[in-house]
Amino acid sequence: MGFIVGIDGTAGSGKGTVAKNIANKLKLLNIDTGSTYRCVALAALRANAIKNGVIDEKKVIELLNKISIEIENTPSGDKVYLNGEDVTKKIREKDVSQVVSPVSSIEEVRYKMVDLQRKMAEGKDIIMEGRDICTYVFPNADVKIYLDASVEERARRRLLEMQEKKIEITYEEVLDNIIKRDNNDKTKKIGALKLAPDSIVIDTTNLSIEEVENKIIGIIQKKREKI
Ligand code: C5P
Repeated sequence: MGFIVGIDGTAGSGKGTVAKNIANKLKLLNIDTGSTYRCVALAALRANAIKNGVIDEKKVIELLNKISIEIENTPSGDKVYLNGEDVTKKIREKDVSQVVSPVSSIEEVRYKMVDLQRKMAEGKDIIMEGRDICTYVFPNADVKIYLDASVEERARRRLLEMQEKKIEITYEEVLDNIIKRDNNDKTKKIGALKLAPDSIVIDTTNLSIEEVENKIIGIIQKKREKI
């Protein structure tokens, strides 16, 4: 097994940005596990397995064997492919964000995605970010980090990110979505967002991206020296 850095944390805590930047700096493969669940949610919406917010679990489970998901790290950011189609932007849109947490709570979805995530990591030095990386996907990760920030700051960051991607949404909608996702993510039967006993917690509310990155890089380098 390669060197594994796991980063868990709440939505908008900065996981995505810091993981991408650290991957570039340290030449690690970056695996954003949230995008795998987002692909399933998009596929479910397209197959009418979700109507008016109600999820037909059986239909979603049937879909699992019909979808392929790939993540490609490129210098300009990750590209995510669902059955060969570039869905990088689509999976960040409001309709997907609203249903992804309940879709990712379906047991079969989790087993399939965790299996895929472990395969993506096989034999490579990686940084993997999500909710259950340090507790479930890679409980023996070499470095374990848990990021958090106040809910208002997280909503502010997500709003900026979505505005940059020209996605129309208000601060109140983002805040409401984050609060609902936090609740759902923390109370899932499997794969809930939990702090692993040996994870290092970083509160990013008052830190710049660079400060968070430097802290994590310091932790990684210390660990590497010991190996
Ligand atoms: O990280 P991101 O916000 O893109 O993740 C989207 C959703 O996917 C999360 O709200 C969570 O419900 C789910 N997820 C998960 N386990 C992971 C990563 C994401 O359940 N490892």
